[in-house]
Amino acid sequence: MVSFPATSPKLPLVTPFEDQIDHPLAKLPITVLQINLGRKCNLACTHCHVEAGPKRTEEMLAAVCDQLIEIIQRFPQITTVDLTGGAPEMNYGFRPLVEAGRAAGKTVIVRTNLTIFFEPGYGDLPEYFARHGLQVVASLPCYLEKNVNQQRGTGVYNASVQALQWLNQLGYGEDPALQLDLVYNPAVPHSADFALTPNQAGLEQDYKAYLQTHFGIVFNHLYTITNLPIGRVKQHLVAQDLYWPYLKFLESHHNGATVANLMCRSQLSVDYLGNLYDCDFNQMEGVPARLVNGKPVTVADLLAANSLDVLEWVQTRLYCYGCTAGSGSSCGGALI
Ligand code: SF4
Ligand code: SF4
Repeated sequence: MVSFPATSPKLPLVTPFEDQIDHPLAKLPITVLQINLGRKCNLACTHCHVEAGPKRTEEMLAAVCDQLIEIIQRFPQITTVDLTGGAPEMNYGFRPLVEAGRAAGKTVIVRTNLTIFFEPGYGDLPEYFARHGLQVVASLPCYLEKNVNQQRGTGVYNASVQALQWLNQLGYGEDPALQLDLVYNPAVPHSADFALTPNQAGLEQDYKAYLQTHFGIVFNHLYTITNLPIGRVKQHLVAQDLYWPYLKFLESHHNGATVANLMCRSQLSVDYLGNLYDCDFNQMEGVPARLVNGKPVTVADLLAANSLDVLEWVQTRLYCYGCTAGSGSSCGGALI
């Protein structure tokens, strides 16, 4: 079975992801609620699967925010509320969801781009994060300036360094209650000479040594995340005729041992309109979570059912190879 027109004989054959796993992929009890608050962001990074940016206007509806707060309060099985975007801090609902999550005793993760701290009106964020004991997961796609600025824009590296120093001054990275983690994204491929993400533990040591030596920065963990061929990455790959070769590369490194730990199995991903997905990647690709009868699901449906475990299976696609290649990839880094 081929996944592209037979009129493209030079393209590599990519095996459907479903043929490589125990299909359909079973959902597990839900423990993580990941909320994408909207597309607004002060940056517009080349690898952004959300295609976020300063001109995007989509953000959380007030009614959906209220429903999510009810979900957080009603279901003790949720251990983690994971806030993402865009820049989650710029979108409606950020602070109410943080405060509801912490009041209910959940771990609350904020996925921050760090540079938001220096935008007008957001200068209190580091103190706010510390006051509420948020787990900060911060993008820093390399420890070297040139690579970060290429991927995220001029000046982003210096702003990120200052932001990390600010978080350290507040106790992040040292106080066990103030966890600070960094995220590594590889550069978007420019040739067919693809590479898997480096070994997470080894790269973490490199980051720690460089950032400590040059800037006195400390942090807890580094998460390596593979670029999935969706969003801006897909546009870039298609433009360079690298889309199918990249998928084939990911497939050729498929590692069945990662499947048990895929994040989509135990999380719900919610968009700013209250629609449910198995993960943020499916959300951005418009692939909703579905009941066994094929119906998509909303946050309101969960409240009506009084259950978070209404989904039997994960909706998988070819880009899922990005999560199972090598050591695997997820919002929490490598899977094995
Ligand atoms: S990758 Fe993150 S910081 Fe960059 S544009 Fe996307 S949401 Fe914003
Ligand atoms: S993209 Fe990754 S997290 Fe999302 S459904 Fe596929 S395997 Fe799961």
